[in-house]
Amino acid sequence: MTQRATTGPAEGWEYVIGLEVHTELKTKSKLFCGCPNAFGEEPNTSICPVCLGLPGSLPVMNAQAVDFAIRVGLALNATIQRSQFHRKNYFYPDMPKDYQISQYDVPINANGHLELPSGRVIGIERAHLEEDTGKLVHRGGHGRIESAAYSLIDYNRSGVPLLEIVSAPDIRDPEEAKEYVTELRAILVAVGASDGRMEEGSLRVDANVSVRPIGETQFRTRVEIKNLNSLRSLVRALTFEGRRQVQLYEDGGVMIQQTRFWDEERSLTGALRLKEEANDYRYFPEPDLPPVAPDLTLIEERRAQLPELPSKRRGDVVTILPQLRDDLRETIITDECWPYFRAAIDAGITPTRAAARCANELTALFADIGVLTPERFVAVLAMEDRGELGASQVKVLLREACTDPAPAAELMAKLGFGARDEGAIRAIVEGIIAQFPDEWSRYLGGDEKVAGFLLGQVMRQHGRQVSGADARQALVELADEARSGAG
Ligand code: ADP
Ligand code: MG
Ligand code: ZN
Repeated sequence: MTQRATTGPAEGWEYVIGLEVHTELKTKSKLFCGCPNAFGEEPNTSICPVCLGLPGSLPVMNAQAVDFAIRVGLALNATIQRSQFHRKNYFYPDMPKDYQISQYDVPINANGHLELPSGRVIGIERAHLEEDTGKLVHRGGHGRIESAAYSLIDYNRSGVPLLEIVSAPDIRDPEEAKEYVTELRAILVAVGASDGRMEEGSLRVDANVSVRPIGETQFRTRVEIKNLNSLRSLVRALTFEGRRQVQLYEDGGVMIQQTRFWDEERSLTGALRLKEEANDYRYFPEPDLPPVAPDLTLIEERRAQLPELPSKRRGDVVTILPQLRDDLRETIITDECWPYFRAAIDAGITPTRAAARCANELTALFADIGVLTPERFVAVLAMEDRGELGASQVKVLLREACTDPAPAAELMAKLGFGARDEGAIRAIVEGIIAQFPDEWSRYLGGDEKVAGFLLGQVMRQHGRQVSGADARQALVELADEARSGAG
């Protein structure tokens, strides 16, 4: 695996980045009440006294959320521990209780790590449970609060379970931040905790960034950029902010710890507010909830059931195909591709072919994959391995196999791939010979390289009907006959 060269924000400087990723957990109901945890409902329909924070309502812990948190903790190699919910007090209209129920000094998951495709290991400080707030929509102006004519509030999201995963400041450039979020997202999806949809807000990133001269060992003051909701915004915001900080230092300025926003349209970060300290929030233990004490048997059960994670698949592919390009490998280990590649390898398909057909042909078919199961995919590749199908035929056949459940051999007949009819193949090759008499006599004269040209013509004109292997066989036979006839 290649080690990516890091690019600093300026010559002689490096980034220091730590990410806080908020992921909505895929539970049926909200964290402390029975309201459905659903996206895209009519505003303010999935609500009740608890998630509206009405006086006298009492929270009840959702066991499924704890279960998901444990699975994520295990997948991130974290310590899973008894934890306590706290009230984090602040006022904002998206949160009617005036406090958020979150975990504070003792999170359910602590001290984990995650390995990137590059082999670099990023520390995970904590992954704690908390409730989401409602959603504010600012109307008029630029959709930002300060320029809006009015604001709307939807409490459907209020009380949706979140897991906040906080990395150590181990990330060293914006591209690596993107790699980290991509890998984390794949893990969250693999353990079933999240649907990973950034565009629907089920994965939201706050990015902490500082810069320092290369060689300096201390960390400098950081800035937190809020609510980056695409990988593109993440990379652009970090790049902009790193350069801004270097400029500030070089101009002799003083960095202040603050919270900033990213404006995608204007491509800049702007100051939101000074950074709050923990004591601004007046944290105190939530008196209406007992501590979360994960059951040891449940933890061991979940550990045993952990699905295959991306890092394991990556290792498998590297073992099977050490030379495979990184981007192809990353495509193959996705949840969509992997069952097909695994089935092909298990069936003894040539690994390079399995990799190429997965990364190229198969990915193009995912939108309408229909009845193309891994088994049927493997059946087509096996025919190609045996030389019964050419590359262009494979493409057509795979597409057909998405909608038509018939066995591959029947599909071949239906598509007019008369590949096994020797007479027909000979006739096709003879047709090409007639079109290129000069090349044919050069080939007969012993110029083997011309075979490639002649076969290329066969495939270009008749690739749907003839496999390369059959055409080559026919060409060799015709040449033998011509030579013995002449001699
Ligand atoms: P807060 O409550 O202030 O958001 P957290 O502990 O939740 O604090 O998150 C702090 C984040 O900032 C972590 O991801 C951490 O890795 C990162 N971080 C801490 N110090 C620095 C620094 N000097 N430069 C960049 N990132 C940092
Ligand atoms: Mg935080
Ligand atoms: Zn509710």
